[in-house]
Amino acid sequence: MEFKIQTKKREEIVDITKQIEEFIKETKDGVCTVFVPHATCAILINENYDPSVCEDILKALRQIAPHGGSPLTLNQSKEGKIVPWLHDKIDGNGDAHIKSAIIGPSETIPVKDGKLQLGTWQNIGLAEFDGPRERKIIVKFI
Ligand code: ZN
Repeated sequence: MEFKIQTKKREEIVDITKQIEEFIKETKDGVCTVFVPHATCAILINENYDPSVCEDILKALRQIAPHGGSPLTLNQSKEGKIVPWLHDKIDGNGDAHIKSAIIGPSETIPVKDGKLQLGTWQNIGLAEFDGPRERKIIVKFI
């Protein structure tokens, strides 16, 4: 199964749990894999009950890979300027690729009697790092 999500911001986490639950509800025991074929977004499992958790995750990733340049290379600049990511020369989204690589493009969730075996506070999220864009999500049941 594949479905599409239109993200609305440059960076956000969109809850896609309901779409996945709908897909696996007629299944029995197995595993469900959720994958994005994109290099600047990711799939993660975390809490969505308190929306500030998603904001904190984005905030932490921004500290590791700020949009527009690296604080790690700040000391290497003689003028003390922020030095852009090398990939920013291509399309200005070097930070989005780094964030995507850290989180990863997929998650695997155990399924029992047509239900995802997520914990009480776990949801499946699409993490957008270079939106707004339309994103394709591929879901397989094994
Ligand atoms: Zn790029």
